[in-house]
Amino acid sequence: MCPACALDTLAPLADLGEMPVACGMTFPGPAAARLSPKGRMQLASCPRCGHVANTAFDPKLAPFDASFEAALFHSPTYTDYATGVVDRLVKEFSPSCVLEVASGSHVLTSHLESLGVSATGVPDAVVKSGSYDLVLARFVLEHMADPFKLLTSLRKVATRAFFEVPDAGYDLTTAGWDCIYPHVGYFSAASLNAIAARAGWRVLEIGTAFSDQYLWAIAERAEPLTVDPVPAVYSPSFDAATAQWRDGLAGKNAVVWGAGTRGTMFCNRVDPRAQLIAGVVDRNPAKHNRFLPITGHRVLAPADLTEIRPDLVILTNPSYVKEIAAEVASLGIRAEVVVA
Ligand SMILES: [Zn+2]
Repeated sequence: MCPACALDTLAPLADLGEMPVACGMTFPGPAAARLSPKGRMQLASCPRCGHVANTAFDPKLAPFDASFEAALFHSPTYTDYATGVVDRLVKEFSPSCVLEVASGSHVLTSHLESLGVSATGVPDAVVKSGSYDLVLARFVLEHMADPFKLLTSLRKVATRAFFEVPDAGYDLTTAGWDCIYPHVGYFSAASLNAIAARAGWRVLEIGTAFSDQYLWAIAERAEPLTVDPVPAVYSPSFDAATAQWRDGLAGKNAVVWGAGTRGTMFCNRVDPRAQLIAGVVDRNPAKHNRFLPITGHRVLAPADLTEIRPDLVILTNPSYVKEIAAEVASLGIRAEVVVA
């Protein structure tokens, strides 16, 4: 049964095979990396609302972890965006008491406090009691095997809500590097609206943000309602993207830049036996000389490139092209910098 609309059963959409569960993490040695858990990613979609879910997801392998969302705040661009969201909500609704669930950092609760709003953050995705006039549930629904349960529990404690998830319209129409094991659900506007309405949330506003990578909705408590949505239809071309990159790496001395979730998925899909990519560069010193899950690609410092002398640097995040091209050039390396 579709976890979003509960009106239909899911039909197979894309099979990514066995992928790392510890996506975004690194390991102290190649052996530990190779032995880290794997999980099957079998995406299926709902013919009624277009919701996509990994039907092979095992919540025991990937329990919700709020540090996932917290990691996003390492980027100043992301932090500006997220505090801007809060500013807008405060301006529009003047809440006096806000709850943030699945809160992995204090950035937003501190920001709310600085605006004179009482704010509570809980790292869990379960809420048992309380009374708030706004709840923030950002980047948590996509991790839930049963997101309906969370939405229903939030309705008991808050009168308004702000939900945010990765937009399926981005994840499923690009090469899919953001389709990762910890994300069990992929929401479109139609499926987010359907699940919210069913859980007793009337969606007031819905839209995309952050270069259309995110989907958000503002909702208010209402009577549960079954809506018959117009589904978004996706035809992912993940296999073609993977094959194209694999062919493109033949005869190249290539490195990937960025040992986060996208870099991990790129390496696992394109170079599962670690034969084509010389390593993965990351600025974070805590990751250097550690290894990506399953494939065991080594994480390099930018300075290591002077030894490897790559002719191809592959970025998995389009936001930093200029900055990284300049850094590669400043190391005296003449490499083509491309975005995957
Ligand atoms: Zn559905």
